[in-house]
Amino acid sequence: MTKDAITRAYIGLGGNLDDPAARIQRAFLALNQLHHTKLVLKSSLYRTAPVGYLDQPDFINAVAAVDTALEPIELLDALLHLELDEGRARSFKNAPRTLDLDVLMYGDLQLIHDRLLVPHPRMGARAFVLFPLQEIAPNLLIPGMGSVKQLAAACQDQGIERLENNTP
Ligand code: AMP
Repeated sequence: MTKDAITRAYIGLGGNLDDPAARIQRAFLALNQLHHTKLVLKSSLYRTAPVGYLDQPDFINAVAAVDTALEPIELLDALLHLELDEGRARSFKNAPRTLDLDVLMYGDLQLIHDRLLVPHPRMGARAFVLFPLQEIAPNLLIPGMGSVKQLAAACQDQGIERLENNTP
């Protein structure tokens, strides 16, 4: 990793098709191989029931922390490439997907850009983001939203299961 300014970013990973647990493990490795980026921490895998469109398999989710010298949009583009490598087809909102990668946070940045909203606007209300995030960064403050601890506590009623040995 070269370039100068390094920022801690948090990435949300999720999927529910074609062995999503294996895809997420591959994505952890791929994050560590992005240009100017190093994987720092990875959460356990979690299983959650789908939201929105319910007639689909449960999701597997996780969160990773990376230290990166990529600019936010460069990081987004790198994640979109990884999604394509995993064969993600975009069909309809909340549809099943092989691998979904989101920029959850990029340091303390608050960004409103036509391609990228940071922090991810829905992360503060989703157990499948907050529980794995709390595991790897228990004292994290999410800009404009609050502490990961408090936000996670408010999502206790959303069914989520931490997978022992990361196996579904
Ligand atoms: P989705 O397929 O629902 O994950 O949406 C992906 C699209 O959302 C991308 O093409 C991005 O341009 C846009 N987007 C906006 N904010 C974010 C974010 N924080 N992380 C990932 N994608 C984002």
